[in-house]
Amino acid sequence: MSGLIASTLVARAGLPVVLLEKSTSLGGRAASRDKHGFIFNLGPHALYRAGHLRRTLTTLGIDVRGAVPGANGGFALLDGRRHTLPTGLMSLLTTGVLTLHGKFELARFQSRLTAIDTAPIRRETLASWLESHVADTGVRQLLQMLVRVTTFTNDPEHQSAGAAVEQLQLGARGSVLYLDGGWQTIVDGLRRTAVASGVRIISAAHAVALEQSTARQVEAVRLADGTAMHTSAVIVAGGPADVDVLAGTRFTTALPAPIRVATLDLALRSPAVAALAPAGGAMIHVSKYLHPGETAGRDEELELETLMDTMQPGWRESLVFKQYLPSLTVANAEVTAAQGGVEGRPPSRVPAFDNVWVAGDWVGPRGQLSDAAAASAADAAAGTLAALKGCATSATESCATTKDAEADSLVAPPFRAVSAGATPPVRVT
Ligand SMILES: Cc1cc2nc3c(=O)[nH]c(=O)nc-3n(C[C@H](O)[C@H](O)[C@H](O)COP(=O)(O)OP(=O)(O)OC[C@H]3O[C@@H](n4cnc5c(N)ncnc54)[C@H](O)[C@@H]3O)c2cc1C
Repeated sequence: MSGLIASTLVARAGLPVVLLEKSTSLGGRAASRDKHGFIFNLGPHALYRAGHLRRTLTTLGIDVRGAVPGANGGFALLDGRRHTLPTGLMSLLTTGVLTLHGKFELARFQSRLTAIDTAPIRRETLASWLESHVADTGVRQLLQMLVRVTTFTNDPEHQSAGAAVEQLQLGARGSVLYLDGGWQTIVDGLRRTAVASGVRIISAAHAVALEQSTARQVEAVRLADGTAMHTSAVIVAGGPADVDVLAGTRFTTALPAPIRVATLDLALRSPAVAALAPAGGAMIHVSKYLHPGETAGRDEELELETLMDTMQPGWRESLVFKQYLPSLTVANAEVTAAQGGVEGRPPSRVPAFDNVWVAGDWVGPRGQLSDAAAASAADAAAGTLAALKGCATSATESCATTKDAEADSLVAPPFRAVSAGATPPVRVT
């Protein structure tokens, strides 16, 4: 996804771009698969309506549709008992998951959530911040659960409180959309827009090395079949391990652990929220947010199935298809307090080079999950354009200014055209 976005933004500015994808199909973790007429996203996927990805799609003219989950109808499990999930006034009044004191405290927290200044708490852990700001144990547990659902992170002892609250605020500002047709509709929309913008897409093209003309300049991308593709700039839109292989960086060891889930994806004969299934069918994702270092296997699959027995008894009789994925990387690096929240993530420009950028959900100071992928893709595209216009290093103030201005203009058309001339294409892997 970040490769499609970055390449489209560069191509729209008038430069020739080649997008290299090692797989035979595009989309990476955002791709969905059709199985027996049911659309399987890779685990549960919700698009933040007020997030960077949604804004980028709108800017690129890509329309996605879906359903906002209802305010009521959710459940919380506490000590094995099912309770109403307090998400609105009615559910807050009726739920048995909180004491009366807890209900007042949660209502107070929700009313001031969007006004919390997150900058001063980016270096504080979620656990420590909750300890000092939330008195009621039940409210603390509920907020930790909401943070797990919105960030996919189960690590309050290390997670940045600022990043956790920012994601709660994002949810409160616009909720989420479950997409009709799955996230494949985003991938398909981005692919169509990329091609229409002039991006040349090559699938089954595995980049294995960056070849340098000088210590700071890459001049070609070497593919697994031996082909060398000449280039004036490269945006690597893979994970940290992919970048380390290509650019000789050490992101894998320097970054916090990835965020992972074990997910049981079920296709059932029953009604649904978003259109992901044939008439009368439903897709259900039951996930466990894994603690860093935790592994999941058959025991966790049974745990998720047992949870389904509690929440939706009889599901086994209407099961059409299931897939269990025990260790999916949701995002390539947790946003920790030690790194200073999202501000501490690596920048899109790779410091060792003048013409290499990175993009993905582990890069840049804005957004989380796919929103970080979209925001860093715009930053990488902006940096590339600025460099190819003569600002090969960010040492001068005017170049830094150009890059900032470009980042804004890239997500708000019209795009400034850059003469391609005889420039070799930008490669996005
Ligand atoms: C279970 C699950 C649930 C999620 N839920 C949400 C959610 O609710 N909301 C949300 O916003 N986000 C969610 N995400 C995160 C979101 O899916 C990702 O952040 C986003 O898809 C990342 O896109 P990307 O393009 O940066 O990375 P990827 O999808 O990993 O794409 C990288 C691409 O680069 C290719 N590649 C890598 N190396 C090379 C190479 N050497 N040569 C050529 N090609 C290469 C790969 O094949 C891949 O296609 C979820 C993810 C998972 C797994």
